[in-house]
Amino acid sequence: MKRCVRCILPETFPEIHFDSEGVCHYCQEAEGQILFSAGEHIQEKLENIIQVSKALEGSSYDALVAYSGGKDSTYLIKLLQERYQLSILAVTFDNGFMSETSFQNMRTVLNTLNVDHLIVKPGQGSLNQMFAESCVPHIYPDHLTKFGSGICISCIRMVSTMALRVAIEKHIPMVMLGNSPGQLIQSESELIYQDNKIPFGLRKNLFKPLVEQIGNDSLYDLLMLTPAEYKTKPFPYVINIFPIIGYDENVIYQEIRALGWRKPTDVDPNSTNCKLNSLGIKKHCETYHFHPYDFEMSMLVRQGIISREEALQRVQDPDRKSDELAAEVEEALADLLQKSVQR
Ligand SMILES: [Zn+2]
Repeated sequence: MKRCVRCILPETFPEIHFDSEGVCHYCQEAEGQILFSAGEHIQEKLENIIQVSKALEGSSYDALVAYSGGKDSTYLIKLLQERYQLSILAVTFDNGFMSETSFQNMRTVLNTLNVDHLIVKPGQGSLNQMFAESCVPHIYPDHLTKFGSGICISCIRMVSTMALRVAIEKHIPMVMLGNSPGQLIQSESELIYQDNKIPFGLRKNLFKPLVEQIGNDSLYDLLMLTPAEYKTKPFPYVINIFPIIGYDENVIYQEIRALGWRKPTDVDPNSTNCKLNSLGIKKHCETYHFHPYDFEMSMLVRQGIISREEALQRVQDPDRKSDELAAEVEEALADLLQKSVQR
């Protein structure tokens, strides 16, 4: 397969074109620009929101961190404590397919840092239905599946909905996410935002195909806030801090190893915490003929965060670790996947 000679985007990536030297148009457009180098105004906005949040009364916590146990959110907790002296509640969404090592990591790290932890675990039956149906081709619009698999889109939405729901209940002013600078972030407006600014109807439309296929309207509540929650005042901020303050994978690994974090061996090369990811990758590759991490990895290469070789390793997965795990998850979801195909 032909790939961009600078990043790794393949010829199968939607609407891609290459120049005569084999450089993709994303790389050409990025030339001379530092991608997502957040402007000074965003940094000021961040400092300002943090100071105001710390001064607020009425909550025991300054910030909620959506904690997956992965490398980025682990480092995020340490960073927020050290740099901003925030009191933190770590909230984990357990999708039922998390690596066991990941849970051990969470316990070790949070004990070391003395951070409160809340684990949210919706009924596995509903989750499995959602995951199986998220494998159906084109269940989400193609402009979104460019950046990730259907399973990942559903799961990330459930994570942020759950995090916001807890923040609303506990009056926590900030929800911090540990997205890396390549993950699902396309513009500055996605760095700091209030989730209720996206119209309720628009968001519901996005999940309509999925929820209608399953035929259970109560699943909307896992994927998005309710109309009442939408009206919360003041509404918590969602903050993606890494693209604002900078990100260095080597520093992250170094710092979190010192906290006792160990890299799980029971996950694919693109995830440090979740097995379900592998099935998402498999189904996505079958439908779209490119890897759901192609775009994210290409961003990391363009920003100099990882090398092109490293990115290729991750998407080509020479040990076929991902296939093995996908088969394991597929077996667990077999009946539901069968049903979703028949619909
Ligand atoms: Zn390129």
